[in-house]
Amino acid sequence: MTPNTDNIGASTVDLNQQLFDRAKTIIPGGVNSPVRAFRAVGGTPRFVQRAQGAHFWDANAKRYIDYIGSWGPMILGHGHPAVVDAVQRAVTEGFSYGAPTEREIDLAQAIIDLVPSIEMVRLVSSGTEAAMSAIRLARGATGRSKFIKFEGCYHGHADALLVKAGSGLATFGNPTSAGVPPEVVQHTLVLEYNNLTQLEEAFALHGAELACVMIEPIAGNMNFVRASVPFMKRCRELCTQHGALLVFDEVMTGFRVALGGAQSIYAKHIPGFAPDISVLGKVIGGGMPLAAFGGRRSVMEMLAPLGPVYQAGTLSGNPVATACGLATLQEISRPGFFDTLASHTRELVDGLKAAANACGVPFSADSEGGMFGFFLLPQLPQNYATVMTSDGPRFNRLFHGLLDRGVYIAPALYEAGFVSAAHSTDDIAQTVAAAREVFEAL
Ligand SMILES: *Cc1c(COP(=O)(O)O)cnc(C)c1O
Repeated sequence: MTPNTDNIGASTVDLNQQLFDRAKTIIPGGVNSPVRAFRAVGGTPRFVQRAQGAHFWDANAKRYIDYIGSWGPMILGHGHPAVVDAVQRAVTEGFSYGAPTEREIDLAQAIIDLVPSIEMVRLVSSGTEAAMSAIRLARGATGRSKFIKFEGCYHGHADALLVKAGSGLATFGNPTSAGVPPEVVQHTLVLEYNNLTQLEEAFALHGAELACVMIEPIAGNMNFVRASVPFMKRCRELCTQHGALLVFDEVMTGFRVALGGAQSIYAKHIPGFAPDISVLGKVIGGGMPLAAFGGRRSVMEMLAPLGPVYQAGTLSGNPVATACGLATLQEISRPGFFDTLASHTRELVDGLKAAANACGVPFSADSEGGMFGFFLLPQLPQNYATVMTSDGPRFNRLFHGLLDRGVYIAPALYEAGFVSAAHSTDDIAQTVAAAREVFEAL
């Protein structure tokens, strides 16, 4: 009889690697969204088998403390009973109708109640779709073509938004992706984040032609960089003065940094502050494909079927996704939810800082609500160019050191981190202890 060698050494076979090898033969790069492929940090992506609370288990049945939480949506942790229950009930009533439902009104109302700048809202299926539609709406409402975005801010992968700065303020952007014709980004002006001088100059040159300024108020796609209060105040003033709309991309920060989003934080510092259009995603779906854009009634009424700006979606307002989103918003609206979440997040950030300091590793970190970022830099960066001066190889050693110890942070130094309500003091203490070990050898 031929011995069966299939199971010899089974315990040392890396099942993540096996799945990755299989995936790579039929899915480009083995993944359905690039950063999951671990290209920046090297190594084998973890294929998730299941998740519960603050943890997930990979194909090797190894447990990780999860600081990505699906890149933000899982603010309650995985498998929150109230959310699971709402989704299970919804599923039995049908997956999708292509006709309106009461739950869409309930979710729209919940969003409007929590975000005062939103008077009307439209539901879509992804942040990309919401951001793309918000730009179209801003252009349609103003009758203008040009708009400003900032280097290091990500607004999804719509053509006009895949753009980097041109050679000067008088020139517009260059595509950052093949397949985006230069003509498509010729109206996109890319400025440095937090750079007041550039902002003033851009409005002086192009103010009358600008449809909008689109900004991540706390940029979570260059790790974690806040727009300074004076910068945000000036964005608002210049938009108002020149008849451009201020578009807040809160796909990441909405219902994540505070119940009212990042705009509620700026409104505390700038009296009467409000964006004209807000873009939401991630947390509002609670892990299901759901996003939204909303704003002033007069602007939103420009949308089809009322107005001339076309926008549509077969699965928009999906009944299962809205059930998931509504249950999530209900849970995070409980009194004290964000205070507890913010204090847990600060506990993590302070613990990491102390561990790095004790080991002489340059380190800076910041957090708001359940979102955090850290840099292997002595001071918090204010823009993308400074973020990218981070020590990449050192970050990669930190990433893999943590991963080996069962702590899963974003596999790239320009991504933010997320703490959920399910992360316990014990999870945080374990994370800090693991980081301390890694810092000692960093
Ligand atoms: C994630 C994200 C998007 C894109 O959302 P998708 O659902 O991935 O299309 C847009 N803007 C910001 C700020 C994001 O963080």
